[in-house]
Amino acid sequence: MNVHEQYPSLDSRLVQYGVGRDAATGAISFPIYPSATYRHPEVGESTGFDYTRSGNPTRQVLEEALADLEGGARGLVFASGMAALTTLFLHFSSGDHLVVSQDLYGGTYRVLDQVFGKLGVTASYVDTTDAAAVATSIRPATRALLVETPGNPLLGVADLRALGDLCRRHELLFIVDNTFLTPVLQRPMEFGADVVVYSATKYFGGHNDLCAGALVARSAELGERLYFLQNSTGAILPPQDCWLLLRSLKTLALRLERHGRNALEVARWLQHHPRVSAVYYPGLPEHPGHDLARNQAHGFGGMLSFRVDSPTMARQVLKRLNLISFAESLGGVESLMTLPAVQTHADIPEAERLRLGICESLLRLSVGIENAQDIIADLAQALAG
Ligand SMILES: *Cc1c(COP(=O)(O)O)cnc(C)c1O
Repeated sequence: MNVHEQYPSLDSRLVQYGVGRDAATGAISFPIYPSATYRHPEVGESTGFDYTRSGNPTRQVLEEALADLEGGARGLVFASGMAALTTLFLHFSSGDHLVVSQDLYGGTYRVLDQVFGKLGVTASYVDTTDAAAVATSIRPATRALLVETPGNPLLGVADLRALGDLCRRHELLFIVDNTFLTPVLQRPMEFGADVVVYSATKYFGGHNDLCAGALVARSAELGERLYFLQNSTGAILPPQDCWLLLRSLKTLALRLERHGRNALEVARWLQHHPRVSAVYYPGLPEHPGHDLARNQAHGFGGMLSFRVDSPTMARQVLKRLNLISFAESLGGVESLMTLPAVQTHADIPEAERLRLGICESLLRLSVGIENAQDIIADLAQALAG
């Protein structure tokens, strides 16, 4: 009996993946198998493990857990989110065209523009919160739609159901980067996603001590193709890090509950601050994607962005922060703040960045699980003066 059949609720499954699966010892914490290779019992026989790039017991438990969480046929883990995305993009061929969210992780833009562009795979960046705009950007050579929702850094919400229907009609591979919400809060396969992508460095890892990525394929057939690419190109996640990620899964639901509660409290406080001209958080009823987010997700997550009255003010805030760290990345227990225009989104050409609204007065906050009042007090002193 697998964990899914035993425990239908997601928070119980998260805790129980791997528990007792090492039959020889009954270990609660599934062991790390660092072995690079495995003895064969006979010619033509295998224990199921031959060589660690092709398969590893610790990785297998983690990959099965991710597939189960997502409701997909196959999970695959990689050395980083970019390694996962790169492996996925290798599925395409020269001449193929992708439609991609314009409110996108900067590294995804960079690898498409500067690496895959040279290999003949092209992309159009569109406002995926507007399903009609997505429809008009589809060409005969379009093979896939890649969506991030909520978007980064402006937290726009795309309609997963409408986009899933569109992909089905045009026979496009529907890819969702679900890094910001994880399957605890949003399960894109319920809306027809074929592949869900993660930077597991963020909420899955959750402690800013790990770099990892994942792909989950809905069908066994696509899963097999992506496994072929993972094994052929080799950007696997090492067993020690697989174990660390399995440990992080145990508290994922708990952490996201607190991240979400804190983010709403901080967003409400920022809304009333005189030096703050806009707050972007889908959990606020005023956010244009609020109703959509309520319908398609089970929470709004821990990410928010806000605009201060000048670039000078943004720099002052970053300089004065105490509890909150001025650092890239997101999704960890520690609160982090970034200036997307000069950090995560620096590779997007300036004119394009400004058109999107990613100017030097925009700050992005990954709200941690510290006491919300302490986070607010730190923001208050940083915004003072
Ligand atoms: C961080 C991030 C990535 C890239 O993942 P790495 O683990 O840093 O390689 C991709 N997509 C999103 C939404 C991210 O936040």
